[in-house]
Amino acid sequence: MLVDAPSVGEALLAPLAALEGHWLEVTCSGCGTMTQYPLRLMALRIGGVRVLGEVVPRLVCKRASCRARPESDWLCKTPNRTFNYGAEPGWSVRLDQRVSRAG
Ligand SMILES: [Zn+2]
Repeated sequence: MLVDAPSVGEALLAPLAALEGHWLEVTCSGCGTMTQYPLRLMALRIGGVRVLGEVVPRLVCKRASCRARPESDWLCKTPNRTFNYGAEPGWSVRLDQRVSRAG
Protein backbone atom coordinates (compact mmCIF):
# COMPACT_ATOMS: atom_id res chain seq x y z
CA MET A 1 0.00 0.00 0.00
CA LEU A 2 1.20 3.47 -0.88
CA VAL A 3 0.51 6.24 1.61
CA ASP A 4 1.04 9.08 -0.84
CA ALA A 5 0.07 9.31 -4.48
CA PRO A 6 2.81 8.10 -6.82
CA SER A 7 3.73 9.97 -9.99
CA VAL A 8 2.35 8.50 -13.18
CA GLY A 9 5.80 7.12 -14.00
CA GLU A 10 6.19 5.53 -10.58
CA ALA A 11 2.72 4.04 -10.79
CA LEU A 12 3.32 2.48 -14.20
CA LEU A 13 6.60 0.93 -13.00
CA ALA A 14 5.12 -0.47 -9.79
CA PRO A 15 4.66 -4.24 -9.55
CA LEU A 16 1.09 -5.26 -8.83
CA ALA A 17 2.21 -6.81 -5.54
CA ALA A 18 3.22 -3.35 -4.34
CA LEU A 19 -0.21 -1.98 -5.24
CA GLU A 20 -2.30 -4.52 -3.38
CA GLY A 21 -5.04 -2.70 -1.55
CA HIS A 22 -5.35 -0.11 -4.32
CA TRP A 23 -7.80 -0.07 -7.20
CA LEU A 24 -7.99 0.65 -10.89
CA GLU A 25 -10.92 2.69 -12.12
CA VAL A 26 -11.48 2.25 -15.83
CA THR A 27 -14.10 3.95 -17.98
CA CYS A 28 -14.87 2.30 -21.30
CA SER A 29 -14.62 4.44 -24.44
CA GLY A 30 -17.27 2.32 -26.13
CA CYS A 31 -20.17 1.79 -23.74
CA GLY A 32 -19.15 4.17 -20.96
CA THR A 33 -19.23 1.49 -18.26
CA MET A 34 -17.09 2.39 -15.26
CA THR A 35 -15.32 -0.50 -13.56
CA GLN A 36 -13.44 -0.49 -10.27
CA TYR A 37 -10.99 -3.34 -10.16
CA PRO A 38 -9.02 -4.44 -7.08
CA LEU A 39 -5.32 -4.78 -7.87
CA ARG A 40 -5.01 -7.52 -5.27
CA LEU A 41 -7.24 -9.65 -7.47
CA MET A 42 -5.31 -8.70 -10.60
CA ALA A 43 -2.05 -9.70 -8.87
CA LEU A 44 -3.57 -13.07 -8.00
CA ARG A 45 -4.71 -13.63 -11.57
CA ILE A 46 -1.67 -12.56 -13.56
CA GLY A 47 1.13 -12.39 -11.00
CA GLY A 48 2.32 -9.76 -8.58
CA VAL A 49 5.60 -9.23 -10.42
CA ARG A 50 3.83 -7.73 -13.45
CA VAL A 51 4.10 -3.96 -13.48
CA LEU A 52 1.07 -1.75 -13.89
CA GLY A 53 2.43 -0.27 -17.11
CA GLU A 54 2.25 -3.73 -18.73
CA VAL A 55 -1.35 -4.19 -17.70
CA VAL A 56 -2.95 -0.84 -18.47
CA PRO A 57 -2.37 -0.81 -22.27
CA ARG A 58 -4.02 -4.24 -22.52
CA LEU A 59 -7.23 -3.38 -20.73
CA VAL A 60 -10.44 -3.85 -22.69
CA CYS A 61 -14.08 -3.62 -21.67
CA LYS A 62 -15.29 -6.69 -19.78
CA ARG A 63 -18.59 -6.70 -21.70
CA ALA A 64 -18.35 -9.28 -24.45
CA SER A 65 -20.49 -7.17 -26.78
CA CYS A 66 -18.17 -4.19 -26.39
CA ARG A 67 -14.49 -5.02 -25.74
CA ALA A 68 -13.52 -1.39 -26.42
CA ARG A 69 -10.41 0.24 -24.97
CA PRO A 70 -10.69 2.45 -21.91
CA GLU A 71 -11.25 6.14 -22.28
CA SER A 72 -9.54 6.72 -18.93
CA ASP A 73 -7.58 4.65 -16.42
CA TRP A 74 -7.07 5.77 -12.84
CA LEU A 75 -5.00 4.25 -10.07
CA CYS A 76 -6.92 4.92 -6.88
CA LYS A 77 -6.00 4.56 -3.24
CA THR A 78 -9.49 3.34 -2.36
CA PRO A 79 -12.37 1.96 -4.43
CA ASN A 80 -13.94 5.42 -4.55
CA ARG A 81 -12.11 8.02 -6.58
CA THR A 82 -14.76 10.60 -5.82
CA PHE A 83 -16.91 10.81 -2.74
CA ASN A 84 -19.66 8.26 -2.58
CA TYR A 85 -20.85 6.02 0.18
CA GLY A 86 -18.35 3.75 1.91
CA ALA A 87 -14.64 4.37 2.11
CA GLU A 88 -13.42 7.94 1.85
CA PRO A 89 -11.71 8.68 -1.44
CA GLY A 90 -7.93 8.92 -1.17
CA TRP A 91 -5.43 9.97 -3.79
CA SER A 92 -5.88 9.02 -7.42
CA VAL A 93 -3.55 9.20 -10.41
CA ARG A 94 -4.73 9.36 -14.00
CA LEU A 95 -2.58 6.84 -15.86
CA ASP A 96 -3.72 7.23 -19.45
CA GLN A 97 -2.11 10.64 -19.92
CA ARG A 98 1.05 8.75 -20.90
CA VAL A 99 -0.40 5.59 -22.36
CA SER A 100 -0.01 5.34 -26.11
CA ARG A 101 -3.17 4.73 -28.06
CA ALA A 102 -1.37 4.12 -31.32
CA GLY A 103 -2.73 1.28 -33.38
ZN1 LIG B 1 -17.53 -1.15 -23.02
